[in-house]
Amino acid sequence: MNNIKVNTIAKDGNARLNEVTLNGKVFKTPLFMPVATKGALKSLPFKYLEQTDIILGNTYHLYLRPGLDVIKEFNGLHNFIGWDKLILTDSGGFQGWSIPNKFKDDGIEFKNIYDGSRFFMDPKLSMDIQQTLNSDIAMILDSLIDIDSKYDAQLKSIEMTTQWGREAREYHSNEKQSLFGIIQGGRYKELREKSANDMMSLDFNGYAIGGLAIGETPEERKEIVKFTIDMLPNEKLRYVMGLGDVNGMLELIELGVDMFDCVWPARLARHGKIIHKGKFFNLKNNKFKLDTKPLVEDCLCFTCLNYSKAYLRHLLINESTSSWFYLTLHNFVQTENILNEVRESILNSEFDKYKESIING
Ligand SMILES: [Zn+2]
Repeated sequence: MNNIKVNTIAKDGNARLNEVTLNGKVFKTPLFMPVATKGALKSLPFKYLEQTDIILGNTYHLYLRPGLDVIKEFNGLHNFIGWDKLILTDSGGFQGWSIPNKFKDDGIEFKNIYDGSRFFMDPKLSMDIQQTLNSDIAMILDSLIDIDSKYDAQLKSIEMTTQWGREAREYHSNEKQSLFGIIQGGRYKELREKSANDMMSLDFNGYAIGGLAIGETPEERKEIVKFTIDMLPNEKLRYVMGLGDVNGMLELIELGVDMFDCVWPARLARHGKIIHKGKFFNLKNNKFKLDTKPLVEDCLCFTCLNYSKAYLRHLLINESTSSWFYLTLHNFVQTENILNEVRESILNSEFDKYKESIING
């Protein structure tokens, strides 16, 4: 369980640059994790993720397909998917919210999206799945409910999450796997505080601030993260799940968040939306029909070094598969470049200036 070591190299305000050692691998935060839900990124082979240190795999989906019997043959997800860097697995908690289900006191009754049947996941099964996947970081099964849910429902949700967290903590035995707790509580400061204290009393290897990026305003999100993060220990990583747009990450890095994951860059790419610093533009726009320039002038990604906007637009409109590859690659490289520059700006005590240049640039 104690396989993760966080060394804070620099701080600029509350923004922090950490060097983290995990299972013999070293990475720096703030960090963005691409989402490989079913063991792959949609439309981009792993070999193109040169700058990526951690990818995210999904417990619910991998349990159903390919199933644990297949994963066991490979001694875990790394070998099965051919990824020798780090993997974080989520717990199934997010699908408890996003897929029709029933929360029970001792777990979640899920619908199998492939055949409509039902199966029950309790905190131990979530741990069994993640320990079989042998990810480097596992998450506790949590009870995630709508951000708009009222006080009593949020209270019940954090009480369940604490109980499930306790069960997960006691049951978890994979010494090469870090286990992170998840703080819930909706918009209620008092409940976030209670949830954070509950999680810290269980002493996890890192803490996620959960229940965000599901409908709150950016201002509300900042407020929630600000008072939650103040309670968390410096020597553990802080992770905001399901958020990964550039401006959203910058706002939370400023508060001291270290880790993010999101399908955002890949999903934007499949819709022809091209990331350029903190903004994006729509490549389908007619004005790019004759444009001989790359997507972004100074981008050094394979796509920008080789192809014009006009050609990529043509592919996008007429032959989607290869365009998804080219555009996803660009969006990941842009995102990783920004995180690189963020880390450098923290080191040089210029984070504020950098953030402004991206958001307003
Ligand atoms: Zn590019």
